[in-house]
Amino acid sequence: MKKISKHTLLKTAIIILSVLLVAATASAVYFVVQDNKSKNQIESLNKKLADEKSSHEADMQSNSEAFESLENEKSSEAQSYEDRLSAESSANQSKVDELNKQIESLNKQLAAKRAASTTKRVDSQSVTPSTPPAQSRGKTVYLTFDDGPSQYTPEILNVLDRYGVKATFFVVNGRYNSVMKDIVNRGNAIGLHSYSHNYASVYSSDAAFYSDLNKISAVVKEQTGVETKIMRFPGGSSNTVSKKYSAGIMSRLAKSVTENGYVYFDWNCANGDAAGANTVEKQLANCKSYPKSASNIIVLMHDSKSTTLEALPKIIEYYKSCGMSFGVLTTATPPVHHGINN
Ligand SMILES: [Zn+2]
Repeated sequence: MKKISKHTLLKTAIIILSVLLVAATASAVYFVVQDNKSKNQIESLNKKLADEKSSHEADMQSNSEAFESLENEKSSEAQSYEDRLSAESSANQSKVDELNKQIESLNKQLAAKRAASTTKRVDSQSVTPSTPPAQSRGKTVYLTFDDGPSQYTPEILNVLDRYGVKATFFVVNGRYNSVMKDIVNRGNAIGLHSYSHNYASVYSSDAAFYSDLNKISAVVKEQTGVETKIMRFPGGSSNTVSKKYSAGIMSRLAKSVTENGYVYFDWNCANGDAAGANTVEKQLANCKSYPKSASNIIVLMHDSKSTTLEALPKIIEYYKSCGMSFGVLTTATPPVHHGINN
């Protein structure tokens, strides 16, 4: 044992230590490597996890979007259904309204027919008295029509012909001037009323009045060949509307037209067609209330009103039933004049 020297012992110790050191280093390296490996694995796992998470989130997002759009679709479908329903219901409502209107109008027609048949019965009693009253017998009635010709004038002429009655037409210028010829050719009288029938211009001065009168006179001459000298002032000689445009003009004109060879006619009875008498019954009632003391009746009417056409047969029948004869106005007819108010 002695031979084992200190040196050998040292050498051996160094060797053992070296081996130990190498082993320790190797194991340290191993652990570091292992550690790195684990770290990498953890990182990669984390990354994988994060990826999965984000893909999951994206899925969630897209799912929620899909859900939302589905919801929107559903609600817009519901909305459109509601809209359709409400449209259908309002269409139905308007159909109901329409039907109600039709019913109302049918009821009105029925009521009107009933009233007409009642009136007919009443009229046939009152229009044809067995003996004409003494106050009307032998009198002449002059039916006069102002403000035409109109679209109703041809039919009015037919009614007059049907009853063998003549009338007088105080005409204005308008779309139906060509009817003037027919008025005259069928034996009626034609007179001057106004070219424009515009109070503001006609009554602005004496000269303006004559300018208007000459113009309508020329139209009548051109259409009919007649140079008529009978006339009726727009608004009648008693009008007050002319005051607005020229004080005293009616007093001057009433005098001067006569001096110029014209005869002007007012009226002592009116069917009221220009004053709200918009039914046959009202017009007939007005015609019946002629002045009983007057020797002749000049009735003012307007052939520009449809109700007048409708009422005319009744009016003629009424005057016939009174034993009156029908005449046309001429310059020789005793005129009816109103009191002058301007
Ligand atoms: Zn008039």
